Amino acid sequence: MNNRQLFLSHLAQTTDFPLMLEIDRAEGVFLYGPDGSRYLDLISGIGVSNVGHRHPKVLEAMRMQSDKYLHLMVYGEYVQQPQVQLAEALVGTLPAALDNVYLVNSGSEAVEGALKLAKRYTNRPEVICCENAYHGSSHGALSVGGNEQFKRAYRPLVPGVRQIRYGIPEDLNQITENTAAIIIETIQGEAGVRVAERDYFLALREKCTKTGALLILDEIQAGFGRTGTFWAFEQMGIQPDILVCAKGMGGGMPIGAFIASKHLMSVLKSNPLLGHITTFGGHPVSAAASLATIRVIQEEQLTSGVDEKANLFKRLLVHPKIQGIRNQGLMMALVFESFAVLKPIIDRCIANGVITDWFLFCDQAMRIAPPLTITEDEIVFACKKILQSIEEQET
Ligand code: PMP
Repeated sequence: MNNRQLFLSHLAQTTDFPLMLEIDRAEGVFLYGPDGSRYLDLISGIGVSNVGHRHPKVLEAMRMQSDKYLHLMVYGEYVQQPQVQLAEALVGTLPAALDNVYLVNSGSEAVEGALKLAKRYTNRPEVICCENAYHGSSHGALSVGGNEQFKRAYRPLVPGVRQIRYGIPEDLNQITENTAAIIIETIQGEAGVRVAERDYFLALREKCTKTGALLILDEIQAGFGRTGTFWAFEQMGIQPDILVCAKGMGGGMPIGAFIASKHLMSVLKSNPLLGHITTFGGHPVSAAASLATIRVIQEEQLTSGVDEKANLFKRLLVHPKIQGIRNQGLMMALVFESFAVLKPIIDRCIANGVITDWFLFCDQAMRIAPPLTITEDEIVFACKKILQSIEEQET
């Protein structure tokens, strides 16, 4: 059997529409097939490769670390240089109150940790989440997800979850003294890039502070420079009590974190123990890759070009079939009439060497989230191919 046949026979399938691309090698913004075909990656492996694929500094950091040691011990027992240096660098990107980092393996695990921390700290029963939110696929993360279709088959889920509408100030009144936390994406990703107003976030912060509910911001998709600032919440004039991140954090390696104040986090080690346990959380090679990723974002000033690049996309992507563009930096959604219109365009884009995708809860919108390292010439090339693909689909 060839690899495509093996893929269909032995790899559990999670979608009716797998892209089925076979990739042999990746470099920068490009993926290469075994037959020499080249694809411009406009989705960064779903918001992961913010510094491009296989950034040389990330590879070097991983090589240096793997020459020293791989896994040594479960999280939080040994003093491991990559973990402590990463924590210091992360804290350096954040407001002073967010000074304590718990390293995990993924976005979903970071969400689990954050929810547990909020319940434990506040001793309150209720968590609030938002309609159309995506926070991950594990039971806890799914429970605070905002799409009933994805939750239905798994009920009963974690109890005590109440759902409000994202970006609607009136609904913030549902946050009360019973609320342990509200978990919210600063920018809703899988809903198709929805951005609430700055005033909404200010009101949200105020309501949380007033009621003692903790504000958990999920920047798993929006963090690490994607929206033009290192963290998206910097643009909203607020700060969270707990921040969760992953995806772009590892420069292509699996790692995540939930981050809070030392005071908040200290409840995880009070009796009873077992605040959160992870064998591989903050794996030394992932931690080294993540530290290198932060340095690349900072040294190459990757955030400073984000708005200009996003504006170039928006200037070039003009076509009657494109009904609108929603974006916050290089987190973009191109809206079409329906999935039936969009899907063949995405297929044509891939045939023309440009990888795009749609969103989990918004299948009429094309996902554009390229590596932040993408050049102007590459954006011009990508847009030309997208427009060409739309035209080809029309004929
Ligand atoms: N939160 C958000 C906002 C996400 O976009 C995702 C992944 N798409 C997750 C959480 C879950 O992350 P992971 O897939 O690493 O568990």
